[in-house]
Amino acid sequence: MKDELERLVRIPSVAGPDVFLSAKMTAELFEEAGAAEVEIASVPGGAPAVIATFPGPVGKPTVLLYAHHDVQPAGDGWDSPPFEPVERDGRLYGRGTADDKGGIVVHLAALRAFDGKPPVGVTVFVEGEEETGSPTLAAFLDRYRDRLAADVVVLADGDNWDVGQPALTVGLRGVVDCVVELRTLATNVHSGSFGGVAPDALTAMVRLLASLHDDEGLVTIGGTGGRTDVVIPEERFRAESGMLDGVRTIGRGSVADRLWNQVALTVLAIDSPKVDEAANALQASARAKISVRVPPGFVFDDVFSALHKHIMDHIPWGAHVTIERGESAQPYALETTGVAYDAAREAFETAWEVPPVEIGSGGSLPMVAAFAEAFPDAAVLITGVADPRSNPHAPNESVDLGDLDKACLAETLLLSELARRT
Ligand SMILES: [Zn+2]
Repeated sequence: MKDELERLVRIPSVAGPDVFLSAKMTAELFEEAGAAEVEIASVPGGAPAVIATFPGPVGKPTVLLYAHHDVQPAGDGWDSPPFEPVERDGRLYGRGTADDKGGIVVHLAALRAFDGKPPVGVTVFVEGEEETGSPTLAAFLDRYRDRLAADVVVLADGDNWDVGQPALTVGLRGVVDCVVELRTLATNVHSGSFGGVAPDALTAMVRLLASLHDDEGLVTIGGTGGRTDVVIPEERFRAESGMLDGVRTIGRGSVADRLWNQVALTVLAIDSPKVDEAANALQASARAKISVRVPPGFVFDDVFSALHKHIMDHIPWGAHVTIERGESAQPYALETTGVAYDAAREAFETAWEVPPVEIGSGGSLPMVAAFAEAFPDAAVLITGVADPRSNPHAPNESVDLGDLDKACLAETLLLSELARRT
């Protein structure tokens, strides 16, 4: 499947006409694979998506195979041109190799394995706007509900545990951000004339932000949701995150629980004068953007309310405050029992020769909640071709070609297993 992946990666489908070109190539690939019907479709304001239908034998379930054909902008720092795929040491480098054109070719391989006549009904849905937050996905699922309805949904946009070790993502943290503004003075004033008596808003903000973690780095509005038995060795985490020598991890509990099952809070940005341009003045106002990751099991609005209350309770020196809630995505825990998960576990273990690790995800995939809402009775599986070296959204994105083959085989076996078990 390397050739097809290379052809897709050569289209820089970040935005505009290139996204239409990648939709067109995707549609052609599934047409060649024997689809009964292929359509490039969108709803007003949305990017082109591809729907390809492969009817199955009567009485067999229908499986929806999802991926996306749009990619992140290239950015700087690549060792080879981002849209010219290059193979090095068994990996294929290029923007979209892992996220998520690799997902497209996995679906393609599974359908080719059955000569376009899979043992279950298959609908392929390849979205074109995932990297911009899927703004019209809910409307699209609503408009094309009958075409996309399925018993099992396979979202091939997740991560594997390691090279040679598959994973099924079973929980996702949600995210909410907010902007806090503090004001202490009518305007900036001279620090020599007023400093020591009048508080400045920047110092007030620093004190407020400091109150959001305890000395160990535990989030003061935090808490723990579920538990996982998966062990992420601290050395692996340190290497992957690029933590500097001597810098300690924050929080309490296992690395996996801190990543997947606990509230995490990050100060994303502060508006303040640049150091090089600093004047001897008390700042009248300061703004900060705070992001909170919310694990499954938490009531999303409760976490935001707790943050709101904490801020109101910890405003230093009577500063005036405004809090503006920003974008959010709900946390999500997948229901991992039933025929689809049994079939997937068996298919993955056969293809990879090791059982899949059931992982959480520190990040959110808003599309998961959208699919679950649109098709509440469907089993939702999150698979993928990325591994910890894949660098999605960063320079030198890549996919392991051996793992890509295994993912293709695993999905083929999954369709067979689903047919056999139903
Ligand atoms: Zn993706």
